[in-house]
Amino acid sequence: MSSIELKNLIKKYGDGFPAVNDVSLDIADGEFMILVGPSGCGKSTLLRMVVGLEDITSGDLLINGKRVNDLAPRDRNLSMVFQNYALYPHLTVFENIAFPLRLAKGQHSDDEITQKVNAASKMLELDEHLQRKPANLSGGQRQRVAMGRAIVRDADAFLFDEPLSNLDAKLRGQMRTEIARMQRRLGVTTIYVTHDQTEAMTLGDRVAVLKKGILQQCASPRELYEQPVNLFVAGFIGSPPMNFLPAEVDGSTLKLPFVDVPVSDELAEKVAGKDLVIVGVRPEYFKDASLGDANKGTEFSAVVDQTEWLGNEQYAYIPFEAHEAVQGKLEELDRELDGEGMRTQLVVNLDARSRLREGEEARLVFDPALMHVFDPNTGECLT
Ligand code: ATP
Repeated sequence: MSSIELKNLIKKYGDGFPAVNDVSLDIADGEFMILVGPSGCGKSTLLRMVVGLEDITSGDLLINGKRVNDLAPRDRNLSMVFQNYALYPHLTVFENIAFPLRLAKGQHSDDEITQKVNAASKMLELDEHLQRKPANLSGGQRQRVAMGRAIVRDADAFLFDEPLSNLDAKLRGQMRTEIARMQRRLGVTTIYVTHDQTEAMTLGDRVAVLKKGILQQCASPRELYEQPVNLFVAGFIGSPPMNFLPAEVDGSTLKLPFVDVPVSDELAEKVAGKDLVIVGVRPEYFKDASLGDANKGTEFSAVVDQTEWLGNEQYAYIPFEAHEAVQGKLEELDRELDGEGMRTQLVVNLDARSRLREGEEARLVFDPALMHVFDPNTGECLT
């Protein structure tokens, strides 16, 4: 059993704004938890607080129900896998894996060390490379050696800090699959920091999204995608990002840039009293009405400015007028999302069969039930 509980954790460096601000998370035994968010959101600081490399300003950190705030890193029995793997170049794979056992002087016999290293290297399919040096291994094999070191220690949890960010895209994809496979096989509680949402969505049992040190939402990848709690999460998760459209509220109608959409009584009630809301629609929720196989929903016509055909899918870009009243909110979101939030064009992801042409009018359809409606002041999702 190795659960990790973060209770109201705060980290302040000097007098500044808290780098981690009142974060609470319960990480279950065997769970793969992702910490994700833009640069500077506090994800590395949070991980370093868990492993003991940063002091906790306030709050409690519990491992297996025991408060460990004041325990030294070596006494927390957690194993950190760093970005550069921190392998010793002069040592063989065997000795690199054995290193933490040799460090605990006198605690393990030579026979025991050999047996543990052999078992770990077999599991990691490194048994044929035990006498090699790190320089003669592929990036993926090096990553496995780093994991081997974590395994022989019988650590309660693995902590990863952006382990793949130095690798090229192909290797990153392979390593992602490998880490997922190993974690499932070993069933070790894992906390993994990344700013890459593909890693977050594919690896995590749950994903914790942070902004400016504050936890925004912690949920399964599917829930984050389908039910984001606010504009920030909605804009951060998904690629290309969700479209944000200003919409005037007129009784039970939302007036979007291209079309008026009648809404359910339930939604009309939620937006009552507001003049304007921000409507979020994911690019793939739009369909090409001319294909005839997706005509459920609200239909509208718009002139396509640009198209991109990728063989298996297609993008169309359709400009619209930004509404002054939401400009400020969308610009703020844009800054928070490193330039991905503010857009005055609709991005539509269509079936590759579509024959949309630049400069021509397209007939598009979308299901209003899939719209996310956000409060333009607080950013909170109202649907
Ligand atoms: P990145 O993805 O860029 O690594 P991050 O989300 O991991 O970012 P942190 O490195 O945890 O973010 O930093 C969170 C905030 O705390 C940032 O504003 C950063 O400048 C600040 N910070 C981090 N370490 C220190 C430190 N030692 N002293 C002062 N401020 C720090």
